[in-house]
Amino acid sequence: MLSIVPTPIGNLGDITIRAKETLASCDAIICEDTRVTGQLLKLLELPKKEFISFHGYTDAGKADYIIQRLQKGEHLCLVSDAGTPGISDPGYIVVSRVRAAGVKIEALPGPSAFLVALSASGLPINQFSYLGFLPLKKGRKTLLETFKTEEKTIVFYESPHRILKTLSELATVLADQSERVVVIARELTKMHEQIIYTTISALEKECQAMTVKGEFVVVLEGVR
Ligand code: SAM
Repeated sequence: MLSIVPTPIGNLGDITIRAKETLASCDAIICEDTRVTGQLLKLLELPKKEFISFHGYTDAGKADYIIQRLQKGEHLCLVSDAGTPGISDPGYIVVSRVRAAGVKIEALPGPSAFLVALSASGLPINQFSYLGFLPLKKGRKTLLETFKTEEKTIVFYESPHRILKTLSELATVLADQSERVVVIARELTKMHEQIIYTTISALEKECQAMTVKGEFVVVLEGVR
């Protein structure tokens, strides 16, 4: 069986009892970075495990190897560096290959940064559009243009290197929708967590005062 195991996005206390038990009892753990997962097991005082590293589309042969082990009856866990495997990280390809091979899969519920940001945003979240990381070049401008007419709350991930550029582009594209709310969620669940609630018109000023370090989720109100 393959168990998909979400891990904390910062605060170790967010690991679930079931996630701990599953990680402790499995035969091996499929992970992105063995050092990150090794450190997590150590901090959670879980027993050492065999790691199978998996980085994404380039590991086609590795996926076959994982399937063979599962078909022999082994219990493997899939984790990513943080949060829910497959959400903007390489987990998806393992799950899709294992699913196609007909091996049993269980998915544990757990943390994901965009869900934490949405729930803290105060914006309508019965429906939303999750975009992962915005494209860097191809399709970026067209996508940003669609924000002008999107009625659902939009949520996306951004790196500290690009956050200011992206927020500046948002302010430009949505200049004539100045009251639309933007929530910038930084370092969620961590010691320096910061949730900035602002509008398109005040975005530039907020950016000047904001610490541009750590991990970011951006939530944008839909068109009213
Ligand atoms: N699988 C993860 C999840 O379920 O949230 C996401 C992995 S993606 C490679 C990493 C991105 O998630 C970061 O660049 C950042 O945008 C966002 N992220 C992860 N942890 C975060 C945190 N504690 N606070 C804010 N954003 C976070």
